Amino acid sequence: MSTCNEKMNLPDFSHSIDAANIKKYRREANHSHRRHVIRRRIHSELAQSGATHHVRQRSMDADVTGALLKSLLHVTSDLQFPACPATKVFVNRSLAMEKIKCFGFDMDYTLAVYKSPEYEALGFELTVERLVNIGYPQELLSFEYDPSFPTRGLVFDAMFGNLLKVDAYGNILVCVHGFNFMKGPEIREQYPNKFIQRDDTERFYILNTLFNLPETYLYACLVDFFTNCARYKRCETGVKDGDLYMSFKSMFQDVREAMDWVHMQGSLKSKTLENLEKYVVKEPRLPLLLSRMKEVGKVFLATNSDYNYTNKIMKYLFDYPHGPKVPGTSHRPWHSYFDLTVVDARKPLFFAEGTVLRQVDLKTGHLKIGTYTGPLQHGIVYSGGSSDMICDLLGAKGKDILYIGDHIFGDILKSKKRQGWRTFLVIPELAQELHVWTEKSALFEELQGLDIFLAELYNANGCEAAFPAMGTWTAAAMSARTLAPCKRESRKSRTTWTCATA
Ligand SMILES: [Mg+2]
Repeated sequence: MSTCNEKMNLPDFSHSIDAANIKKYRREANHSHRRHVIRRRIHSELAQSGATHHVRQRSMDADVTGALLKSLLHVTSDLQFPACPATKVFVNRSLAMEKIKCFGFDMDYTLAVYKSPEYEALGFELTVERLVNIGYPQELLSFEYDPSFPTRGLVFDAMFGNLLKVDAYGNILVCVHGFNFMKGPEIREQYPNKFIQRDDTERFYILNTLFNLPETYLYACLVDFFTNCARYKRCETGVKDGDLYMSFKSMFQDVREAMDWVHMQGSLKSKTLENLEKYVVKEPRLPLLLSRMKEVGKVFLATNSDYNYTNKIMKYLFDYPHGPKVPGTSHRPWHSYFDLTVVDARKPLFFAEGTVLRQVDLKTGHLKIGTYTGPLQHGIVYSGGSSDMICDLLGAKGKDILYIGDHIFGDILKSKKRQGWRTFLVIPELAQELHVWTEKSALFEELQGLDIFLAELYNANGCEAAFPAMGTWTAAAMSARTLAPCKRESRKSRTTWTCATA
């Protein structure tokens, strides 16, 4: 790097970047090549701090109603409210809390937070075992889950076997085939526009829940294995082993089915219940939080999990010798913290036509036959039903309800769009996002300042030289801020612009 810099007479980048160095670079940034080297240097510094990832992630999360369940746990008068952004509630519109009459909770990854990476590693291991059992190579058993690789919100392209990171409009930001991070020209070979139609759900699958994390990493492992193993011949949309052809799409379907099998019929639930301390976070302030909510409204639980699993998880979460207040209250069963409990909710179907509302026999865990038609009764656990039925039982309208969940589609979008419920999305990743933006704010400000400086420099020198026919009025009319993002395109299309204005 230093040799290269000397040849090009570029600033010495061997030391850490700081405000003084940026000023120095600004002075020296007097031609376009240097400008890009400097920008790369700053981005490299941000990448080392983990910020670049979050810069890209930000656009995906920006329009999401964001908040953390942890924050709720701090909104109590006798607990301190730390200044840490991870413990605050964020809103994208005002919400009159005094109008909320019911608080609804999802269970998995909302009340019951699974420990990471232990829980994901368990799901990964069981899914790999399932794949081997249905005929996949034994070598897969050597895969180990790497929590640093997957992130929520990636898209799997079942045609080319790529994992994609796209922005809110479908523009591709990152593309990885197995573990090979593809460069721009490679990406354009398969996606000429560097753009995907996210509505094409047959081809593009959005991995948008925390349950999808092990699956995301498994796609990368499988594609990497099959495309690099000497036994298989690589094709554009899959691999060949003699006369056998395996498409990335069939691989995707196998993994999806294996994941569903592990969750529904496999041993994920039983292994979780066998070692709850290892896999589930126990929050001692949960009883206090729910009892305070119950003082000002009704509280209900609506989970897709079945009764036996829900009962054991909730028993663990509320397994304290005391009640909500310590000291002063005695232990209460978990049911007592809710006015209404619904298991097997089958969200998002729950927010549409729903299913038959049935009553759970608490002694056996089985469902009682027939549809439940009675009034709301304490101590009853319901199975299935729909959001309309729940509103009737609670005596509430959609806008009276604040529903808290972690699933952007199943918990939040459907409840809001179909029923008008108020929503509260739990985004654990937001804590790290805010940490980077807060900790590195000075660096981001410097980067923005540098952008403005470069635009001004281009405005003063480059623009007139590039567009002589347009005259000085163009340079004056284009503000530094508007010119900055498009300077690269302007340079590339210089000929076109000149011709067009001649
Ligand atoms: Mg959930």
